[in-house]
Amino acid sequence: MLVNSNELLKSALKDNYAIPAYNINNLEWTRYILEACEEDKSPVILAVSESAADYMGGYKVIYSLVKSLLDGLNISIPVVLHLDHGKSFEACKKAIDAGFTSVMIDASSKPFEENIGETIKVVKYASNRGISIEAEIGSLNKEDSNDNNTSIYSTPDEAKDFVFQTNVNSLAPAIGNKHGLYKGEPKLDYELLGSICKSVKIPLVLHGASGLDENKIKTAIFCGISKININTDIQLAWAEKVKNYIASNPEEYDPRKIISSGKNAIKKVVHEKNRLFDSVNRAN
Ligand SMILES: [Zn+2]
Repeated sequence: MLVNSNELLKSALKDNYAIPAYNINNLEWTRYILEACEEDKSPVILAVSESAADYMGGYKVIYSLVKSLLDGLNISIPVVLHLDHGKSFEACKKAIDAGFTSVMIDASSKPFEENIGETIKVVKYASNRGISIEAEIGSLNKEDSNDNNTSIYSTPDEAKDFVFQTNVNSLAPAIGNKHGLYKGEPKLDYELLGSICKSVKIPLVLHGASGLDENKIKTAIFCGISKININTDIQLAWAEKVKNYIASNPEEYDPRKIISSGKNAIKKVVHEKNRLFDSVNRAN
């Protein structure tokens, strides 16, 4: 069932677990993630970046693909189709018009007031269409950075002000998290996270959660995180298996065999994360 993320995230916040958001890249990725989450009876957010949408041929293609897989595979868990890091109102509108049930407007690279303005535009368009809206404040450590201290951390006051003015459904604060691979030990500011959670009282989202160990994830959920994004961990697991497969089967040329040699690796990561986020058996 395709739903928005509002009720899922509210339940997660109330009962102290997190809904997993996995980025998808193609048919196989989407299928394996759906299968693993169905086996776990875990709700799932399928996250699609603008570049992934472009790669797959646009938002309409992805909507049709997901919708057809839900039917074809008899998926019974709640599934959210979510635009990840939509950079503009136009991108969010395109995704919503194609059938996405949730969008993230990420205007966090703009000055605070402009971020608010762009987010309000999306909220106006999305909320009366039943679409859930996530926004971001502060600045996550950039992927090419060697320094773990270059992000502009969010503050509880600006978070409160932002949520009050925009009325978004969930918020991604910058608390020392980073996309891609962490260089050195990741340092999340849990005290800050806890204060932001208390000041906004809406579900919070953790980006850049690949590479965070069990303790860090558990603490983040304890401090108020209700949605956790995983991308890199799945890519690494898949790529390793496929590289090994090609190395030991150099004569193989059937793309189905090559691509699906990473199937179990993807499903294993998804099962592990679902258990870690404690989203298993939350489908009803
Ligand atoms: Zn992100």
